Amino acid sequence: MKRFILLLAVLALLLTGCSSSGPAEGTLTAMDTYMSIRIWGEKRLLSEVSDMIYEMEGLFSVTDEGSEIYALNQNGTARVSPRTLDILEKAMTLSERTDGAFDPTVYPMVKAWGFTTGDYTIPESEVLAALSVGTEYIHTDGQIISLEEGVQLDLGGIAKGYTAQACIEMLDTCGIEAAILTLGGNVQTLGSKPNGEEWRIGIADPNAPSEAIVKLHFTGSMALVTSGGYQRYFEEGGIRYHHIIDPATGCPAETDLLSVTILTGDGTTADALSTALYVMGSDAALDFWRTSDDFEAVLILEDGSILATEGAAPLLYDCEFTTVSR
Ligand code: ADP
Ligand code: MG
Repeated sequence: MKRFILLLAVLALLLTGCSSSGPAEGTLTAMDTYMSIRIWGEKRLLSEVSDMIYEMEGLFSVTDEGSEIYALNQNGTARVSPRTLDILEKAMTLSERTDGAFDPTVYPMVKAWGFTTGDYTIPESEVLAALSVGTEYIHTDGQIISLEEGVQLDLGGIAKGYTAQACIEMLDTCGIEAAILTLGGNVQTLGSKPNGEEWRIGIADPNAPSEAIVKLHFTGSMALVTSGGYQRYFEEGGIRYHHIIDPATGCPAETDLLSVTILTGDGTTADALSTALYVMGSDAALDFWRTSDDFEAVLILEDGSILATEGAAPLLYDCEFTTVSR
């Protein structure tokens, strides 16, 4: 059974092909994470997908000195490609929708904690309070983006979801019947497997991330994105400081959640909302779900309980959970 479960954290190394009867399979490392691609269709599309992933990484990376986001952060203004403009506009819309819980301008805070370099420190509260964070500091004039003084972008909370969505759209346009992309904690499926088998996806156990705590079975196209404090963190004085920042405080979001998984048709939305709902905590996250109609969610709480919204509940297997209704 276990071998059929694709864990959200996939261990993989090199781009490889596979037999002609099954799907073409490839793996790569990009955007600081392991990724895997399975396509039921032309094998050459594997390299088109990986090229697209590398291209997006080259545009959106916050650390790559050749990226458009890097140029924007360095110079405060830049003329960007239609792709970068598109992701930025989507990020701003999702930031507004989540009342700033997801915020692409959080970079100065992420940097202050050392999450970009791995040189971790606990910043003084005055340092955090002085940082400019908020999408109102981003100005767009066609393809020219300008950031106000001190404002810097970090698309880490949305880039993988946006990339998966773009790759799935490309495969769909190419007439591919079925595909599954796993970009770190982001999984996105296209269509259904030709043999009629369901997609089987595991949500990582936040306390033992190589194990699945929840299994989801479904057919058809869907994006599933998990955010959790267990994915990147450091510890000091017995306290764990993780990489998902509450833009309202500048500190790692203190919530009753261990992880949030969003299920929806659009990878970009799934990624931004998984980060945002993690920041909100379970009560606000469920209120947000109740006023939305475009996603479902699985929440894993600190007390060990698992909550599934009513649209997600029928997909869950092999676990005890509580169904949340509207
Ligand atoms: P991951 O990228 O680890 O799978 P997320 O999608 O939740 O997980 O994104 C977390 C990343 O997004 C952080 O590493 C940081 O770069 C950035 N980030 C942190 N807090 C926020 C936030 N509140 N809004 C937007 N981006 C954030
Ligand atoms: Mg995210």
